[in-house]
Amino acid sequence: MTTRSETQTTLDHLLTEIEHRNPAQPEFHQAAHEVLETLAPVVAARPEYAEPGLIERLVEPERQVMFRVPWQDDQGRVRVNRGFRVEFNSALGPYKGGLRFHPSVNLGVIKFLGFEQIFKNALTGLGIGGGKGGSDFDPHGRSDAEVMRFCQSFMTELYRHIGEHTDVPAGDIGVGGREIGYLFGQYRRITNRWESGVLTGKGQGWGGSLIRPEATGYGNVLFAAAMLRERGEDLEGQTAVVSGSGNVAIYTIEKLTALGANAVTCSDSSGYVVDEKGIDLDLLKQIKEVERGRVDAYAERRGTSARFVPGGSVWDVPADLALPSATQNELDENAAATLVRNGVKAVSEGANMPTTPEAVHLLQKAGVAFGPGKAANAGGVAVSALEMAQNHARTSWTAARVEEELADIMTSIHTTCHETAERYDAPGDYVTGANIAGFERVADAMLAQGVI
Ligand code: GLU
Repeated sequence: MTTRSETQTTLDHLLTEIEHRNPAQPEFHQAAHEVLETLAPVVAARPEYAEPGLIERLVEPERQVMFRVPWQDDQGRVRVNRGFRVEFNSALGPYKGGLRFHPSVNLGVIKFLGFEQIFKNALTGLGIGGGKGGSDFDPHGRSDAEVMRFCQSFMTELYRHIGEHTDVPAGDIGVGGREIGYLFGQYRRITNRWESGVLTGKGQGWGGSLIRPEATGYGNVLFAAAMLRERGEDLEGQTAVVSGSGNVAIYTIEKLTALGANAVTCSDSSGYVVDEKGIDLDLLKQIKEVERGRVDAYAERRGTSARFVPGGSVWDVPADLALPSATQNELDENAAATLVRNGVKAVSEGANMPTTPEAVHLLQKAGVAFGPGKAANAGGVAVSALEMAQNHARTSWTAARVEEELADIMTSIHTTCHETAERYDAPGDYVTGANIAGFERVADAMLAQGVI
């Protein structure tokens, strides 16, 4: 029998090879490290997982598509962006994952997101594989007409790679209801098919699911609540710092408030807002969703309880809970040390990989409950899968039904991660629990389906 340390040596060799084969993709290396570092116990315990080629296949996307996206701005100037879709793993179902439109997007970023998505989607227990896509297009400051032309050009290439049984994109940073609408319209026009299950995050009335916009944020709060419950606590009266001010952050704040916590912050790339009375969601939604403005406008209009801190780190604000909901690597070791000094009890990731590896280790060592994104933020993609189910059945469920299913899924993800961590001698370590539980499900399906 192979020992854990022998297995870890094999996995470390594989990580070195991943770095060589995928140069200049630091985010992908980070995501691969974070998973492979925790798999030794399960690979050592179950010899079938040590089969040559299994993990090598898991870290190599099934397909990677890169394409030119030309579009005309409002002045008639031709602009050129790059489009991506990484179809990482379809052992459990059609590739599923969002599209991110942000200037920081490159192949390595999309690969890290697609890799995370495999395990996240597996944890939901639903039939969805892992994929991710996007573009380095920056929607900030672009008119609706420009965004529409960009989306149409993007879909004019993407349509040939996707389909309700093949690959089902959705939103992510920079892609919300407006963009999904334009993308769906162009797909429908090109294919001449009403194929509602080809995209999720659609609008109400044309195939969208109730609670999909809320699902990632609501789900993360439910996951945080489950971690607290494990420690004999609940959300009532807890102060929470939330970063970001997009869809995930907004609905995180909404659920925290509904469950009796006080969410006192939000942020964007210009700085953060602290509002000691708790964030006023109507005002934040007006500024971010209607006016597409910046968070400093919130502080200006809110009155004396709120102030805007330009630059600065939102993690300096003392709180019981931290819910990073902006982007990758936004919470580093220094920020984690500050949170611990200020007595944080739980950190739950609404964004994908927002906490750096050093920060995760520091938090875990300090005894803080840490919910990794692939478990904690799986509510969004889970409700996407419920949207697909409704589309296939040509029906739509009530908000109450979707919310109930979401709550059941989040509870079950929490239980799975918790129990798996205990089974592999890492009690309370949700990172290990999530990685191993997600891996087992995907690996079993891959083994059963042969070498493909
Ligand atoms: N972009 C979201 C995520 O990171 C949602 C993906 C989806 O709904 O397909 O999980």
